[in-house]
Amino acid sequence: MKTKKTILLKGTGTAPGIGIGDLWRIEECPAAYTPRQVTDTRAEKQRFQQAAAAFCENTERQAQALQATAGKEQADILREHITIVQDPFLQSETDKQIASGQCAEAAVEAVCDRFIALFSAAGDELTEQRSADVRDVKTGLLRQLLGMSEVSLKNVPENTVLCVKEMTPSMMAGLNREHIAGILTETGSKASHSAILAKVMGIPAVMGIPDLMASACSGTAVLLDGDTGEVILSPDEEQQQQYRARRETLRREYAERELFRGKPTVSADGTVYELVCNIGNPQEAALAIENDGEGVGLFRTEFLFMNQTSLPTEEEQFRAYQKAALLLHGKPLVIRTLDIGGDKDIPYLGLAKEDNPFMGFRAIRYCLHHRDLFRTQIRAILRASAFGKVRIMFPLITCVEEVRQGKALVEECQSELRTQGIAFDEAIPVGIMAETAAAGMIADWLAEEADFFSIGTNDLTGYTMAADRGNRNVADWYSVLQPSVLRMIQAIIRAGKNHHIPVGMCGEAAGDPMLIPLLISFGLTEFSVSPPDVLRVRKTIARWTKPQADEVTAKVMSLPTQQEIKEYLQNTI
Ligand code: PEP
Ligand code: MG
Repeated sequence: MKTKKTILLKGTGTAPGIGIGDLWRIEECPAAYTPRQVTDTRAEKQRFQQAAAAFCENTERQAQALQATAGKEQADILREHITIVQDPFLQSETDKQIASGQCAEAAVEAVCDRFIALFSAAGDELTEQRSADVRDVKTGLLRQLLGMSEVSLKNVPENTVLCVKEMTPSMMAGLNREHIAGILTETGSKASHSAILAKVMGIPAVMGIPDLMASACSGTAVLLDGDTGEVILSPDEEQQQQYRARRETLRREYAERELFRGKPTVSADGTVYELVCNIGNPQEAALAIENDGEGVGLFRTEFLFMNQTSLPTEEEQFRAYQKAALLLHGKPLVIRTLDIGGDKDIPYLGLAKEDNPFMGFRAIRYCLHHRDLFRTQIRAILRASAFGKVRIMFPLITCVEEVRQGKALVEECQSELRTQGIAFDEAIPVGIMAETAAAGMIADWLAEEADFFSIGTNDLTGYTMAADRGNRNVADWYSVLQPSVLRMIQAIIRAGKNHHIPVGMCGEAAGDPMLIPLLISFGLTEFSVSPPDVLRVRKTIARWTKPQADEVTAKVMSLPTQQEIKEYLQNTI
């Protein structure tokens, strides 16, 4: 018998786990129509309204089904689609198009495409996700208008690996979880809603695989690794055995991690640490709790500003921060003030184009010069502090003046709120992100001003090594294991300890098993990681005693190259 040729593909692992099964292509029929001019615009508007109502009804049904399998927070991702359709601006723009004589299909397409173009232009993952949502809504509305049926994924056979150009949250809602061994897509990233859903539903997924649809045939045997992003079509026997063994190991590992659920985070010799989470929107506070996080060490507030066409008001921001605080039920919530610029653009702010945006007029620098914008955010955070254990954190601090000016503004806002009789936490701590080489060098002075530090290794690595975090050509330089970066981290923690302020870490390195003994030895007190990593990190911390961590650290800090450090840690840990 002729065997098929093995094909190796690579994408982004977006939901962990090993998937082994047979490929099932989802062919989407395009929602095609012939544009026509309408004269009875009233009847056409009514047709649009009926389609919109049917879409919302259908989506709510899907959301309820999803709620039963994946939980309310995930179902709310789908309910967002209803909010988009009911958006007064989208409705009035569609009406305008129809009033000009376009048919409802063309009107929907034109208006949605305008939003999609706007969101895609931002070029960041979160806003790109927003444009994916509008694409999903557009297809749904067109299908309603054209009377097309939904793609049904209920009856796929067992051990199916779904393969589709773009996986939408509405498709995810229709899955028969028991039969799905994995998901492969051509578009999408870790921040995609479908990626988040796959993770919660425990379905391994690899997304963003170039030319996937050109390589994939239904019925082909497939292996996928949702951690590394590797995919093998028509694998040989040896590859199948390797993946089966890895799946078994992972299953065991996950079972072992579960033993740490509900337990405090303690080293082998009894030191207790705070193990909190990084989140990007208020709903993720629930994800932090579900994953047994002890609070939130970094709430990136950029999303509030990015998924919009104008600045969010104090009230809108207050509600978002309050929601996160309430979901955490008294557990700490560190809210980072707006960290725009660098790789995070906000189109409507009209930021000037800069030759070197990572070193430009960004984050705290921008906020201190746009005091109204900053004041609005600080007031909103202060108001939310009446509903939980809220802390304020300033990003990209490079000098003492920035901390003093930021704190002075906090005090001004506090006195305004006092006069207005609005409640807030009088003792709210104000800390800073230590994420620049400058902050590392003057950490002792900064520690006199700040109530806490949180080390942002994602930027600290870049600014210490003069290596762009997104540039593959300098990936060897952009490494937290570079001796200069390790010294920087050590110096920051030491300065914090000398001034008796807590020092946490919210960069990706906080969850790196190779770095954890060093962080224990340096004296870090708080680890802030992405929610799914909580149990893994708690388990790693539990392995180490201080003397063992000190021994590893002494050796590492005596090695002058990244290569030697990496080799030593890989062989020792
Ligand atoms: C960091 O720089 O490490 C950090 C946590 O902030 P961000 O990744 O949002 O820049
Ligand atoms: Mg940063």
